[in-house]
Amino acid sequence: MTTNRIDGKEVAAQVTENVKKRVEVLKEKGLTPGLAVVLVGNNSASQTYVNNKTKTCERLGMYSVMVTLDENVSEEELLQNVAALNNDEKIHGILVQLPLPKHINEDRVISAISPLKDVDGFHPENVGKMMIGQQTFIPCTPFGVMKMLEYSDIDVAGKHAVIIGRSNIVGKPMGQLLLQKDATVTYCHSKTKDLRAMTKQADILVVALGRAKMIDASYIKDGAVVIDVGINRDENNKLCGDVDFESAKEVASKITPVPGGVGPMTIAMLMENTCLAAENTLKN
Ligand code: NDP
Repeated sequence: MTTNRIDGKEVAAQVTENVKKRVEVLKEKGLTPGLAVVLVGNNSASQTYVNNKTKTCERLGMYSVMVTLDENVSEEELLQNVAALNNDEKIHGILVQLPLPKHINEDRVISAISPLKDVDGFHPENVGKMMIGQQTFIPCTPFGVMKMLEYSDIDVAGKHAVIIGRSNIVGKPMGQLLLQKDATVTYCHSKTKDLRAMTKQADILVVALGRAKMIDASYIKDGAVVIDVGINRDENNKLCGDVDFESAKEVASKITPVPGGVGPMTIAMLMENTCLAAENTLKN
């Protein structure tokens, strides 16, 4: 039993409990928050994520629909589906599960989602708002990481946060959110020279690179906080992170496991964003 483990399931349960209460308040006002999840193709990992998302919606008393489209669906047909959801009053949040098949332009699809329903926070308008610190939908995974840090009483102000990964959905927004909380932020990526020399300086190390167990204790400063965003399969087909948990936990002061770390937080924050999208309709 590791006592320095940050339990994502526990933090996620607190977040969803709070969302459930907000949903009840909305329902008393005659409004049921609704989420539409669009899944293209039959990627089994994506199917699992999507099922978890719709099931959690139901558990919290929210309305959810899953739109399943064939792998070969045209971009135009997908855009028509998005447009229909934009106009559907029962739907407050729209999520198009990524990645999309190669023949579809992801940027075009993301930009077609109404920014008011963009609960993933990927629409360029919302990304821009996040960059300048305006209220908007924050991408669920980095939003979940910030919640975990807050819940674990980890003050990031003045700390050196090193992020491995610069994707639009995890790495980039992660750095921005940490910066907004006054961390000093360093981004690392596949072209970074001497990754270990960088990560060894981190007070907070966020790993989102997609390589099973690549980051072991030798990359980690004594006492650092380690957040493992990765979801991979190891040589035995077991779910694992980008961090080698067994070795890393010996040097980290706090560390998130996989599974049971960032993953549950991503879904919890999606629920929070969907609830917020519904609440926003009452303000306009
Ligand atoms: P991407 O593949 O989009 O990005 C990976 C990033 O890691 C890139 O910036 C890449 O650099 C960098 N990278 C790859 N290899 C190396 C290396 N050897 N050294 C240094 N940097 C490297 O992945 P995502 O951001 O979408 O996801 C990252 C991980 O997080 C995956 O395992 C994914 O499954 C998981 N994930 C988990 C979620 C959750 O809910 N827990 C949600 C989303 C993702 P470059 O830019 O130069 O190519």
